[in-house]
Amino acid sequence: MIKIEDLSFELFIPEEKLLKRVKELAAAINQDYYGKSPILLAVLNGSFMFMSDICKEINLEAEITFVKLASYSGTKSTGNVNNLLGIGQSLKDREVIVIEDIIDTGKSMRHLLDLIRPEKPASVHIASLLVKPDALQEEIDIRYRGFDIPDLFVVGYGLDYCGKGRNLRQLYQKTEK
Ligand code: 5GP
Repeated sequence: MIKIEDLSFELFIPEEKLLKRVKELAAAINQDYYGKSPILLAVLNGSFMFMSDICKEINLEAEITFVKLASYSGTKSTGNVNNLLGIGQSLKDREVIVIEDIIDTGKSMRHLLDLIRPEKPASVHIASLLVKPDALQEEIDIRYRGFDIPDLFVVGYGLDYCGKGRNLRQLYQKTEK
């Protein structure tokens, strides 16, 4: 049991199990993209650790880049404006693999896909370490999924609570109390 701020968390997925699954996902990507040179596009902040581990297992001539979504409260006429920060190169005609830590409602991923599509990539597929199928509200094809988990709050392995817990090696779930 660990405590972060006001909440208690208990071990959910140990490091060994996470890394084993990450290797399996990488093996599937290596097979599917054999001879190709995909761009691995990780969504910050949460997926930095997943990206770090999976990219070491990928034996393709992959390029690695990171994005961050910026949301601004717009004026009356525009509403929310969202930008992609960090894509340093063109995605045109490239094979893109989005590396994500967790898909919950799917709204963030839907939004990201809508921003990527106009860049005219050759293909876009998603690798998400965690998916909460019971919370998913969008129809999203997640080709590489690490673990389907119940609709509970998790921290560690890149994921935070109030900015903390990202550096934990294992994944923890919030306890009921
Ligand atoms: P969405 O609902 O749009 O699919 O999820 C958006 C974001 O919420 C995720 O990228 C992640 O940053 C955050 N999130 C969703 N579920 C969890 C969770 O269980 N733990 C943590 N730490 N963040 C989560």
